[in-house]
Amino acid sequence: MLGIGLFSAYYVIKNNLIKDSQTVNKEYSEKLAYDTEKLFDNMLSTLTVFSKQIPDTMNDPILVEEHLKRLLVSGNHFNSISLVNSDGIVVATSPDVGITGTKLKSIGTLEALSNRAPTVSSPYIASTGRLIILVSVPLWNADHKYLGFIAGTIYLQEENTLQEVLGTHFSNNGSYIWVVDEKGRIIYHPSEERVGDSVNENPITQKVLRGESGSQRVTNTLDQDFLASYTYLPTTRWGIVSQTPYEVVVNPIGGIVLRMFWLAIPFILITMGLAVYVANKVVFPLRDLARFSQQLREHGLTTRPSIPTWYYEVKQLDDTIHAYALEQKMKLDSFEETSVTDALTGLKNRRFMENSKRKWLEEGQEFSGILVDIDKFKLVNDTYGHQVGDEVLQFFSKLMEDTVAREGFPIRMGGEEFLILLPDINLEKATKMAEDLRHLVEVTVNPTGKPLSVSCGVGEYSESENYSDFLKRVDLALYKAKSKGRNRVEQSINKETTT
Ligand code: GH3
Ligand code: MG
Ligand code: MG
Repeated sequence: MLGIGLFSAYYVIKNNLIKDSQTVNKEYSEKLAYDTEKLFDNMLSTLTVFSKQIPDTMNDPILVEEHLKRLLVSGNHFNSISLVNSDGIVVATSPDVGITGTKLKSIGTLEALSNRAPTVSSPYIASTGRLIILVSVPLWNADHKYLGFIAGTIYLQEENTLQEVLGTHFSNNGSYIWVVDEKGRIIYHPSEERVGDSVNENPITQKVLRGESGSQRVTNTLDQDFLASYTYLPTTRWGIVSQTPYEVVVNPIGGIVLRMFWLAIPFILITMGLAVYVANKVVFPLRDLARFSQQLREHGLTTRPSIPTWYYEVKQLDDTIHAYALEQKMKLDSFEETSVTDALTGLKNRRFMENSKRKWLEEGQEFSGILVDIDKFKLVNDTYGHQVGDEVLQFFSKLMEDTVAREGFPIRMGGEEFLILLPDINLEKATKMAEDLRHLVEVTVNPTGKPLSVSCGVGEYSESENYSDFLKRVDLALYKAKSKGRNRVEQSINKETTT
């Protein structure tokens, strides 16, 4: 933003400076044009006043000379004044430049003789070898006979009255004025040696010669870049050009832009601080939320982090993610629970046994197991129907949950066979618990209304054996109980540990 601001400022300021400089130059060249026109007006009217007195004394050279001298001093406009008769012969000059009595053939003279009207000549080389301008008014006698003209000369390459108007510099920044005539020749320039040079190629000269006024950027003969404004003078058909070095105009921009930069810095820093603060306020909750989502994916829903939810979007995301995760967790928990639960009895199933066993073996957990089988259950089904058989299974499960479940895990292994896993319980205590359970079944009224019994095989797991071997041992003990007449408990002793 700062860059764009400074960049735009640079262009706006540059354009303004250029425009200002062109305005100043334009006004100045217009003012000088006005002053110059006024000067020539003055010259012509001064000459006109004197011309009225001349015809009477035309034949008295002494008197004429007196007149001319007075005119030269009083008007203070001209470098010299001459009186020329209708044949172009110089009657008198002041000061005496040594041409009295000679016939003049210069452009200025011929122009004045043929015009017979107040005339400002184009600059030309006079018989004296000087580059001059001739300002002349005609002389008429009382009978309206043309007698010649009286003319003031301006020596362009010497100190002259034009310089007083044009040469006063308005500025010391390298700006200057130059004047070009209708033929594209310099008739005023601060460097006198340039006066008389032809500058037809200059684009400004070309425009001025077409009678235009305006402003533009130009390169001068010394290859310097300038901003110039020019004004056309209708009376003389000259162009007055006021120009300022381009560098001088645009140089201050660097400083201005630099000052703007330093002024802007504190605001930029404050804005940046605020931006970072606000960005953090916005980003931090999102970052926490992202971490929360990652944690959900990797570990599931454990804890809910406290995320600053001060704005609507994050609050909605947080609530939604959390609600969704919670719902998924509940579904998963319920699914896991279902997958380890027996549908009929509500006891744990074989999958639960597998999970627990794996965990316990890893942890070195000591445990015992009671394998329980309902005696002659087939008969229950056959006698009372499958429905009552189910009820008996549920009744027996409830009985176990109310007793041994406090110290262990009753598991339905399948059909009417159950395994009770008892952590931290040794063979002796497990046998006692099996005996208590057997007795309880015997004495508790069941859904058949008839006595029911169970047979148990009991064993204590020892670290040195396979779990499947342990199960087989206990199953053998159960088989033994069955074969010994049922409704009894048999222990399985691990031979390897006893021998
Ligand atoms: P034993 O004393 O030798 O164990 O005799 P038993 O009749 O109990 O032995 P057996 O294993 O031959 O019979 C088990 C019966 O359990 C067979 C089967 O129909 C029944 N049973 C298995 N699962 C279910 C069940 O979910 N519901 C019901 N009602 N009966 C089942
Ligand atoms: Mg049975
Ligand atoms: Mg059985």
